[in-house]
Amino acid sequence: MLRERCANDNHGRSVVTVRFCPGCGSVVNARIPVGACRADKHAGMRRTRSTYCVDCGDALALAGSRR
Ligand SMILES: [Zn+2]
Ligand SMILES: [Zn+2]
Repeated sequence: MLRERCANDNHGRSVVTVRFCPGCGSVVNARIPVGACRADKHAGMRRTRSTYCVDCGDALALAGSRR
């Protein structure tokens, strides 16, 4: 139940290889386990224009400040 459909194409795919949508942070494939990420991985993801981590669902903009 999305308030607003996000533009990320993960939502339209039949096969999604990540658990979380990088655009809105919602679960797009619940069969993929939640990953444990380190801060440096999130720092790299931020540069790929992702808003949320596709592995753990954390908001990348907040990484390092609070969980
Ligand atoms: Zn999305
Ligand atoms: Zn992560």
